Amino acid sequence: MDPALDSADVVPLLTEAQIRDGLERLARDLIRDYQNDEPCLVACLRGSLVFVADLIRRMPISLRVDFLHASSYGNNTVSSGTVDLRLVPDPNEVRGRRVILVDDILDSGRTLHAAREKLMALGAKEVKTCVFLEKKVLREYEQKADYRCFEIGHEFVVGYGLDYAGRYRNLPYLGILKLPGGANS
Ligand code: 5GP
Ligand code: MG
Repeated sequence: MDPALDSADVVPLLTEAQIRDGLERLARDLIRDYQNDEPCLVACLRGSLVFVADLIRRMPISLRVDFLHASSYGNNTVSSGTVDLRLVPDPNEVRGRRVILVDDILDSGRTLHAAREKLMALGAKEVKTCVFLEKKVLREYEQKADYRCFEIGHEFVVGYGLDYAGRYRNLPYLGILKLPGGANS
């Protein structure tokens, strides 16, 4: 295994400063819409860990945080088509509450669709979706996120929490991964 991340394989797409601006805008909208409701942010692991940590520190209102572990990709850049929900939030955090379902990226929409169904089954009063990135593609499920930081094209991106085969999550910016012979190369 390489000892260091090879950021030569990544073409920068969003800088740290651009990400900060996007977070400020999003946090303002969420504060406006949720300041009197003590919402529960349910973050999908593992991709949204950096995003949710940065977002909640810009939201000085009463709120709660819980997690859900959704996985659909394995070591591939193409969704396997099935969503595995391995960890779900404490029902007491969700029941009767306005829930903000947070994820790194809205791609096919399968992950957020499955997560939303689970949260409704746990008794959430309402579930709105909030993503760091929304891909500009046609979707079968969850056509639009209720809140999003940025819209991007169809490229496979890494960094700022998003991985490729478990790596690159710790890049502080977002970039397009150059895959040998792949769509992004
Ligand atoms: P969906 O279920 O909407 O197809 O996919 C959402 C999940 O797939 C995301 O939570 C993310 O983990 C993964 N995903 C989709 N597109 C990308 C991408 O461009 N880069 C990375 N690293 N993960 C992606
Ligand atoms: Mg994910």
